[in-house]
Amino acid sequence: MHEVSVALGMVDELRKIAEKNSASKILNVKLKIGRMSGIVSDSLKFAFDAVKLEHPFLSSAEIVIEEVPLAYRCNECNRSFDTDNMYFPSCPDCDSYNLTLLSGEEQHIENVEIEV
Ligand SMILES: [Zn+2]
Repeated sequence: MHEVSVALGMVDELRKIAEKNSASKILNVKLKIGRMSGIVSDSLKFAFDAVKLEHPFLSSAEIVIEEVPLAYRCNECNRSFDTDNMYFPSCPDCDSYNLTLLSGEEQHIENVEIEV
């Protein structure tokens, strides 16, 4: 499961954040996950809840995932739009496939609440 390695990567990142801020505990972690990132939010939550048990500084950590929609801009008519079609998106106005990805590939920690 891909989400387990993502969760382990998060633990490393959160440890760095905790050390840098002399935090004893990480409380809430807000993540931004794009629809194109290939990460399933529920699986990531599940993986993180399993992984955090081995790390006392994460015992109270809750993750909140904000899913970022897939958005493109059409290079023909300049229209920006959200879509659920991640394989063959086309412009709703001119049907062009000549698109630039605006968002949807995000996979990062947006915000962390700590206890010092
Ligand atoms: Zn267009």
